[in-house]
Amino acid sequence: MDSAEIRRRWIDFFVKRGHAEIPSASLIASDPTLLLVNAGMVPFKPYFLAEEPPPAPRATSVQKCVRTPDIEEVGKTTRHGTFFQMCGNFSFGDYFKEGAITYAWELLTTPVAEGGYGLPPEKLWITVYQDDDEAEAIWRDKIGVPAERIQRLGKKDNFWSMGVPGPCGPCSEINYDRGPAYGEEGGPAVNGERYLEIWNLVFMQYERGEGTSKEDFEILGDLPSKNIDTGLGLERLATVLQGVDNLYEIDTSRMILDKAAELTGTVYGKDHRTDVSLRVVTDHVRTSLMLIGDGVTPGNEGRGYVLRRIMRRAIRNMRLLGSTVPTMETLINTAIEAMGPQYPELVTDAKRILAVATGEEAAFLQTLRTGTGILDNAIESAKSKGSTTVGAAEAFQLHDTFGFPIDLTLEMAAEQGLSVDEEGFRRLMSQQRANAKADAKAKKTGHADVSAYRELLDAAGRPEFTGYRETTSEGV
Ligand code: ATP
Ligand code: MG
Ligand code: MG
Ligand code: MG
Repeated sequence: MDSAEIRRRWIDFFVKRGHAEIPSASLIASDPTLLLVNAGMVPFKPYFLAEEPPPAPRATSVQKCVRTPDIEEVGKTTRHGTFFQMCGNFSFGDYFKEGAITYAWELLTTPVAEGGYGLPPEKLWITVYQDDDEAEAIWRDKIGVPAERIQRLGKKDNFWSMGVPGPCGPCSEINYDRGPAYGEEGGPAVNGERYLEIWNLVFMQYERGEGTSKEDFEILGDLPSKNIDTGLGLERLATVLQGVDNLYEIDTSRMILDKAAELTGTVYGKDHRTDVSLRVVTDHVRTSLMLIGDGVTPGNEGRGYVLRRIMRRAIRNMRLLGSTVPTMETLINTAIEAMGPQYPELVTDAKRILAVATGEEAAFLQTLRTGTGILDNAIESAKSKGSTTVGAAEAFQLHDTFGFPIDLTLEMAAEQGLSVDEEGFRRLMSQQRANAKADAKAKKTGHADVSAYRELLDAAGRPEFTGYRETTSEGV
């Protein structure tokens, strides 16, 4: 079942059950506390907080999401993308636990021929919050899930809250057992790769009070009206329904992965490092497309920096795969082909999107070229002294003057059998930070005249290196 069909069935199912269909909001959150929309419920926050009346008692959507904290997982786990689509159904004081659980089970297990997703019930494992006897009883007694496939988890995984004071409540997650090829048995409580989390049901039923952490806070009492917020990862369900290993191989991603392999002359599925890089490129190109599509432009702050970081990681991984020429135009075009049928505005806006992406690529390739020359010199000089370490000063200068990321310095030195004085590098970094702080403090007491500059620089991030000739840097 392709992604478009998964989405269609989702909306059909919930619209038939009285839900208002709400189109995805832009990734640029209107919520000032958030940089980017990271869950399906974000556009509905004012209704959950009872700041505005909801447009309908029940709603459904397929929301574009970006989760930058998951960036390190990309390509390494089988299930995390920086961009993904969250299918959701929401109840604002309408149905509650039993309704949400019954709908979820029905949609997942109804045979494909009858409009559902046709998942075998015996492959589904349930988690509930440790104290939520009510949810467990519904799964066991009403739905008929055997008790041994229902597990209890603590606050960290199965309790949701938003703000203080604000709504909170237990969650219940539905996980799909992908079998022994994905590791040891024992359920989602012990193995998240084998028991793939596909759907999270949040039961907002309490009012949260003060606390010291995400796991330690006071419950003030019951909410006047109880709400439902659920989220199913479209890409995760596609992974299961398309019988592929991971979400970078599903229909809307695989084209990008194949194109990256073609452009670099690499083969997917032979070598772990190559595979991880190909998946990172696949994910990051898709995310870059969706961010630029919603109007984000690369920069040194906020969302612009998120986009810049993601694009640079994609380009760096293309380089690791052996590419030295610009590839973004081809890759973004492929991503538009993959995502265009579901987001036609990407097709109409292709020219602008491509211009933003190729502009950023050109700037970064220039940085890479300059930095690479300087690093090569540093490596040569280390070798000629019989040393196997690139000095901290060189690594720091590359970072500070040329915007050359330290992980890249590490990688490129390693390729030539050298290490980098990382400890020294970190020392120089913290020294620089300490100096900046001292400057700022001096400014407050009226003793410095340059700290305003420093603060500006720190707030905006380092300016990009614009070319070899424009620098006045010493010792280059
Ligand atoms: P995980 O534990 O796997 O990181 P999560 O518990 O953080 O997932 P939720 O916040 O519950 O995820 O989000 C609801 C659903 O969205 C998840 O059940 C999953 O299907 C999907 N999802 C969450 N994060 C990602 C991601 N990075 N990439 C793809 N899908 C995701
Ligand atoms: Mg997560
Ligand atoms: Mg989870
Ligand atoms: Mg979850």
